[in-house]
Amino acid sequence: MAELREEDFLREHFRRFYASNEIKSVPSVEMREFGIGAFGKKIARRHISFSTNKDLNFFLRTEVPLFISCSAAYYKDPAARPMESKGLIGSDLVYEFDASDVDSDCKQKHDFWMCEKCGKTYKFVADNCDNCGGKLSQFKFPCEKCIGETKKQTFRLINILVDELGFSNIYLNFSGNAGYHVHVRDAGIKGLSQDARLAIVDYLTGEGFSFEKSGFDFENLLCPKINEAKGLRKRILDRMIFFVCESSSDWLFQFGSISLSTSQKRSAKVFVRNIVENRQKAVLQIQSGVLPLFGSKSIAASFWKAIAENSLRLESFPIDRQTSADIYKIVRVPDTLHGSTGFIAKTISVDLLNDFDPFEHALAFGNGQIKVFISKAPEFKIQGAKFGPFEKEEVQLPENAAIYLLAKGVGKLA
Ligand SMILES: [Zn+2]
Ligand SMILES: [Zn+2]
Repeated sequence: MAELREEDFLREHFRRFYASNEIKSVPSVEMREFGIGAFGKKIARRHISFSTNKDLNFFLRTEVPLFISCSAAYYKDPAARPMESKGLIGSDLVYEFDASDVDSDCKQKHDFWMCEKCGKTYKFVADNCDNCGGKLSQFKFPCEKCIGETKKQTFRLINILVDELGFSNIYLNFSGNAGYHVHVRDAGIKGLSQDARLAIVDYLTGEGFSFEKSGFDFENLLCPKINEAKGLRKRILDRMIFFVCESSSDWLFQFGSISLSTSQKRSAKVFVRNIVENRQKAVLQIQSGVLPLFGSKSIAASFWKAIAENSLRLESFPIDRQTSADIYKIVRVPDTLHGSTGFIAKTISVDLLNDFDPFEHALAFGNGQIKVFISKAPEFKIQGAKFGPFEKEEVQLPENAAIYLLAKGVGKLA
């Protein structure tokens, strides 16, 4: 945890940002509940409300919270407590993707744990520090690649929300830290019940998807016909066809033979070779509703089941079931600052998402130089310039880089 001095320093910079940037990203501001956070604590106080956008901006400039979130919900009386007395009117849908929810092999390169007492660092988590017994805290430095992975998921989600679920009022912002938030504000979804929201989440995550009920019969080598399939069923078939067209025989064997015994695996090798030699024919069969039989029926049944399950897994979104469907949750206010990075939770238009780079486009501060002592930080890039890695050293950094490290809690003002 940073000392008071670092927190004051951040606040002073945040104050300057809010003094010259008006936040206008919350529709129906008077119906929203707000929550604010302090250093190391994203939500310290909730049940705050503002009658106008002007009041919200006055609060930001005077109180200068390091984090500010607002409700997906609309209330008659957003500051009332307990929750039931707020008078719920409706709620947007908000989905969050974070680098910690997606697989990327670079995490162990840039994330670490550090002892709160003696500062010893660890690659992997342990119960306590083996040097002094102190508690370990995790420090995450999601890189371009990690955040890029959440960007891919965000694109896929937006396509499904628009093409398959028919939503149109979609707003997007960088989370300010390690991912993206997607807000759906269609009038039609405001009144959806918790159950209806869970059903949408289940559709997105593939939870409870039944192959049998969706027209897949692996025993009899049948699948839905491609021109009759829609939504998730269609996407699963598309993935299966993609695998048949594009995958190496090694990949097909590895994923297709997952539940086979050692002796069956030998026949599966022949089966896979037959597919690879007849890719075109296999694709035509799948498109017409037949799972190709290139060998024994039991091998084929098990192979296609494994490929279909893997396709479903890849079509599932890594979003949390409860928080995604939660009517009462609060999420980062778009265009405000994130207290763990100093970055702006910037609103992005969907067409610009592809080129959005937080380490360039979410920066809030100038180029003044600041001297900081850094306990540890991996290499990172800001505005195209590389910094670090740093280990117990004093350096002079441009504001955005210095504030990033101070906010992360790995730096102190020198
Ligand atoms: Zn220690
Ligand atoms: Zn990474």
